[in-house]
Amino acid sequence: MGDLLPSCKEAARLQSDALDRSLPFRQRFGLRVHLLLCKWCRRYGEQIAFLRTAVHTHAQGEECLPSRALSSEAKERMKQRLRAEGK
Ligand SMILES: [Zn+2]
Repeated sequence: MGDLLPSCKEAARLQSDALDRSLPFRQRFGLRVHLLLCKWCRRYGEQIAFLRTAVHTHAQGEECLPSRALSSEAKERMKQRLRAEGK
């Protein structure tokens, strides 16, 4: 099992990869098992999925905004909110 099961660091990378593309079966399986066992990584996965959705939603409305400075400020606020929820 040792080499099938990713470490937390690998699991974090896999979860972020999985948002952009579908993972090969072996990696997906390892990640699933890891997430069953590891609460921290489950939480991390929820957070990056939320952040991705939030950034995507924001990007769609961005054309209405006069400056991009505002958008990076909004992203920073979002990060702070995630950090606060992570406690
Ligand atoms: Zn983990």
